[in-house]
Amino acid sequence: MNILLCSAEVTPFAKAGGLADMAASLSKDLAKLGHNVLLIMPKYGNIDTKAFSLENTGHTIAVPMGTWTEYCGLWRATLPGSKVTVYFIQSAEYFDREGIYGNPEGFHDNDRRYIFFSRAVFEIAKILDFTPDVIHAHDYHTALTMPFLKIHYKNDPRFFKTAGVYTIHNMAFHGMFEPRQNMFLCGFGEIYQGSWFEYQGAMNFMKAGIMFADKITTVSPTYAQEIRFTSAGEGLQSELNQRGSDVIGVLNGVDYSEWNPEKDKLLPIAYSKNFLGGKKENKRRYLAEHGVHEAEIMNDIPMMGIVARLTDQKGIDLLEKTIEGFLQNGQLRFTMLGTGAKQYESYFQYLAAKFSTRAFVHIGYNNTISHRLMAACDFLLVPSRFEPCGLTQLYALKYGTIPIVRHTGGLADTIKEYDPSTGKGNGIVFHQYSSEDFAGALRRAIILYNTEPHWSRVIQNALACDFSAKKCAERYIEVYNWAKEKV
Ligand code: ADP
Repeated sequence: MNILLCSAEVTPFAKAGGLADMAASLSKDLAKLGHNVLLIMPKYGNIDTKAFSLENTGHTIAVPMGTWTEYCGLWRATLPGSKVTVYFIQSAEYFDREGIYGNPEGFHDNDRRYIFFSRAVFEIAKILDFTPDVIHAHDYHTALTMPFLKIHYKNDPRFFKTAGVYTIHNMAFHGMFEPRQNMFLCGFGEIYQGSWFEYQGAMNFMKAGIMFADKITTVSPTYAQEIRFTSAGEGLQSELNQRGSDVIGVLNGVDYSEWNPEKDKLLPIAYSKNFLGGKKENKRRYLAEHGVHEAEIMNDIPMMGIVARLTDQKGIDLLEKTIEGFLQNGQLRFTMLGTGAKQYESYFQYLAAKFSTRAFVHIGYNNTISHRLMAACDFLLVPSRFEPCGLTQLYALKYGTIPIVRHTGGLADTIKEYDPSTGKGNGIVFHQYSSEDFAGALRRAIILYNTEPHWSRVIQNALACDFSAKKCAERYIEVYNWAKEKV
């Protein structure tokens, strides 16, 4: 099958969150299954062209915008660890700047940048003589490929039989913009109330993606239900229900060539289920690197960590209300890696200053630390308010690090509370979004850590889990076939 995948983020070139990991791992595994994948993303200013050996194809792409034509260059590189060729849209005006979206508010021209990207995708396919069976778009950034396909390219022989699949990674980001100018830039004419583009007077990219796609997927089965029937739909519940029979939850998969403690070059010591002493050694070194003295390291208390964007979604306020008491009582150690809202960053800095031998804080984005933290911790905290899929809990399982999660979205699909009476389960799960419930989960975790044989058992259960990207890719092939049946 010829699959054109377009994403605003792709690991390792440019990443803000799980979207980048999924775009990369899905492309790799689709290619391994024997399909032709054309992966397209913007060439952002801070992509390291030398390190990733990006080369200029020499093509200039003409992209229709409004009633005129704009141009971009086309670069390419190989997706590391695969044979997939990634194409990069080079435009000084739109993409040659630091950052992906422009945090925290977003660049003022994100509407125009992503209209341009979505339209360029088709023109690149033409130049490369690629006839896609399916175009697979992700989140609001490339959502407009769906209406472009059905409106502007439906009579083009190259795209005549092309199906559109649209994946929602997070309903919270609709991409709502000024309607008149943007409809014009897209060549769609007037916007009118109740149309497939309009939402509360604005042009809503995500709504257009939902309404025009042949199939709509989201990143876990539970989230697929939540967005249709609860406020997790962020106001688009009725649109999602109109398309209900085409909405499918496909659990994201993990790229185990990237996340595997047996082969992880970023860890000081590799380890496996038969050598869990290696995991203990990772913890010891992590503590030592953070200035903890040997005598204090011998004090065997669990270390709990979190790696996340510091936003309200990730349940950081629950941590704020809870973790300090446990640190004060010497019941656990805490470590975090993340960046985002300033008030959360300041809170973690305060914790690190107050508990210098028990709380270790990294503000910023750092891939190496994220791997080391995952290996060094006994528990990973994911107390999210909502979580479409969540990848960190899946990485944690592979590292024998027990996830403590709230029962929502993909966390509910992947983590089951350990039950000592049956020996089944791979984590600790709490239900209510409350500090009481979260604190209860931390207390259960501490007891589990100190109770053999259950502690060893839950680790083995976690290590035995398989959430590989291969399964995810196989499922997407089914989805692509269903989408093609509709064209
Ligand atoms: P989301 O997509 O909502 O951010 P996910 O759990 O699906 O959440 O994916 C987050 C990804 O981003 C994971 O690969 C995680 O390791 C990574 N990540 C998040 N924050 C950081 C950070 N500060 N440094 C390094 N990696 C990070």
